[in-house]
Amino acid sequence: MPPSPELSSQTRAANLDTLAREEFDLVVIGGGITGAGVARDAVLRGLRVALVERRDFSVGTSSRSSKLIHGGLRYLAQGDVGLVLEAANERRVLRRLVPHLARPTRMVVPVYGRSAYAKISAALWTFDRMARVVKDERNQMLDRAETLALEPALRADSLYGAGVYFENLTNDARLVLETLKAAAARGAVVANYAAVTQLCTEGGRVVGVLVKDTLTDAEFSVRGKVVVNAAGPWVDEIRILQGAGERRRLHLTKGIHVIMPRTRVPVSHIVVMTAADKRPVFVVPHGDMVYLGTTDTNYQGRYDDPWITADDVAYLLDAASAAFAIEPLTVDDATGAWAGLRPLLHQEGKQPAEISRKDEVMVGPTGLISIAGGKLTTYRKMAERIVDMVAARLVEQGQTLPPGVGDTDHEPLSGGETGEDIDQYTRACQQQAPQLAADVCERLVALYGSNSEIIIGLMGSEPRLAARCAPELAVTWAEVVYAVRYEMAQTLEDFMERRAGLFLWDRHNGLGVAPDIAREMGEALGWSAMRMQAELSAYVQHVREVKTFMSAEPSSGREVHA
Ligand code: FAD
Repeated sequence: MPPSPELSSQTRAANLDTLAREEFDLVVIGGGITGAGVARDAVLRGLRVALVERRDFSVGTSSRSSKLIHGGLRYLAQGDVGLVLEAANERRVLRRLVPHLARPTRMVVPVYGRSAYAKISAALWTFDRMARVVKDERNQMLDRAETLALEPALRADSLYGAGVYFENLTNDARLVLETLKAAAARGAVVANYAAVTQLCTEGGRVVGVLVKDTLTDAEFSVRGKVVVNAAGPWVDEIRILQGAGERRRLHLTKGIHVIMPRTRVPVSHIVVMTAADKRPVFVVPHGDMVYLGTTDTNYQGRYDDPWITADDVAYLLDAASAAFAIEPLTVDDATGAWAGLRPLLHQEGKQPAEISRKDEVMVGPTGLISIAGGKLTTYRKMAERIVDMVAARLVEQGQTLPPGVGDTDHEPLSGGETGEDIDQYTRACQQQAPQLAADVCERLVALYGSNSEIIIGLMGSEPRLAARCAPELAVTWAEVVYAVRYEMAQTLEDFMERRAGLFLWDRHNGLGVAPDIAREMGEALGWSAMRMQAELSAYVQHVREVKTFMSAEPSSGREVHA
C-alpha cells in the first residue's frame, strides 16, 4: 500500500477545491463504514472517486455499534447459511488487513439447563465446521465449575455450564478512518464537514451533488457520473431529494450501550446475559472499563446523537444485576453511553428485533444508488457489490473501465502493516522506542497499528510531543498532532470521541484534559481564542447531554416510513 497520506486541514481545503473543479467517476455521500468501503473498493479498481461527509467521518451509526466483528454464529440461529459463511470469511479477511482492529476475544454464553446446553453445544459444533474456525479458536463447552472458574462473578444459582467461542473486537470509528485513509492513499478525494444539500440532475439523471462546506458555509457542486448514497440513517433524506415520488423506506431502530468501571461488573471475557424480555444482551471488557449492550427499539427522535432514555439504561443495568452476584447497578455507575440507529428496511408488521439486518440496494428514478442496512463485519463485500453496479453503470455510459490497482482483500488498510501477532508487534515497538512507557506503546499499537510508527516519528522530531496529556492517561500530545495532520480532525469532539476515544473510555470523559487538548488543536488549526472556547463549551455540553438519560424520547415529528 502507498504510505499514509497527510489528511490535514490544508489537505481538506485542497480536496474541496478539487471536488469543485473535477468530474468524478463516482461521488459517494456519507463517510461511515459503507461509504468508506465503497470509496476504497472503487479507487482500487482505478476509478476517480470523491467522498463527502456532512459532519465528521464515522459520526453516524459507524461509531455507535457494539464494536464486534461477528464470526457469523448469530446468523446460524436465523438459518442464514450464506450470511454465516460471508461473515466468517470477512472476519478472516479483516484480521489479515487490519489485525489491530479485529482482536479475537472469548465470548462466554452461560447456560441454565441441560437441554439449552445440548442445543448450544450442537450450534457451536456446527458453526466451527461451517465457518472453518482455526484450531486454537474452536468452541469449548464448560461445566458449572469451569464456568465459575472462568467468570467467578456470575450468579451460581441454577447455572449449568457455558458455551465459549471467539468473537473479534474492533474500534468501529477507527476502522472507518483506516478504510478512508487507505482510499485516500490510492487517490480518493475525501472531505468531512461537507454536506450534500441537493442532487444535480440533467435530463432526469443524477450527475452530481450540491455540497455545503459546513465550516465556512461555502457551496459548490461536485460532478459525478454515478452517485452512491451511503448516508446510513439519513438515506431517505437523500433519496427524497430525487422528487416527490420517492417515499421513505427506512425503519430506524435504536441500540444503546452503557459504560462503567470494570470493578462494577468484574468480567474477563465478553459474557452474554438475558434481559427481562429474554433478548440476549452482553457485557464487554475494555481495559479497566466494561460496556453493556444493546437495546433494539423503534426510534423517531433526532438522528444526530440519538436520545438515550432512563428506561434504555435500566434495561441493561437490570440484566447485568441479574446475571452477576454484584451490588445492583444504578445509573450512577454509568460513566458514559452511546446510542446508534440501525438503518433497516421497513417490513410491515415486524417488531424491531425481527426486521432483516441484510443490506438493501435501492436504485431511484434518477439513477441514484442508495444502500442501507448491513453490518460493519461484512462492509467489504457489500461495497464490492455496490461498486460492481457502479462499474456496470459506467460501461453503459460508454466508459472503458481502467485497470485496477489492487484488491480489497489483500491490500492492508492504513495502519494494517503490523503482521497478525499484535503482541509481537507491540514488543518490537517497545524495543525501537525504549523511551516510551509500556502503556503508551500498547495504546499506540492498539489504536493506530503500524501508523504508530508515524506518531513515534512525530515524537522524535518534536520531543515535547512524547509527553502524556495528563499523568494518569496514556494519551500523548503526538496523537493530537497526528489527528490534525493525518486524520482531518476539525473539532475537539472529533479528537476526543472518534480518534482517541477519551469521550468513551476515560471515566471523566476526558473533561480533565479537554482544555489543554483544545489549546493544542487550536494552535495546529489556527483557532482564535473565541473558537477555542466555543469548542470546549460544545464538548462539555455534548458530554452532559449524553449522560442526561431522558424520561421519554422527544419525537422529531418525522414520518418513519412509507
Ligand atoms: P453511518 O455510519 O450512519 O454513515 C452514514 C454517514 O452519512 C454519516 O456519517 C452521516 O453523517 C453521513 N451523511 C448523512 N447525510 C449526509 C449528507 N447530506 N451529506 C453528506 N453526508 C451525509 N455491525 C457489526 O458488524 N458489528 C456490530 O457489533 C454491530 N453493532 C451494532 C450495534 C448497534 C446499536 C447498531 C445501531 C448497529 C450495529 N452494527 C453492527 C451495524 C453497523 O454499525 C452498521 O451497519 C453500519 O455502521 C452502518 O454504516 P453506514 O456507513 O451505512 O451508516
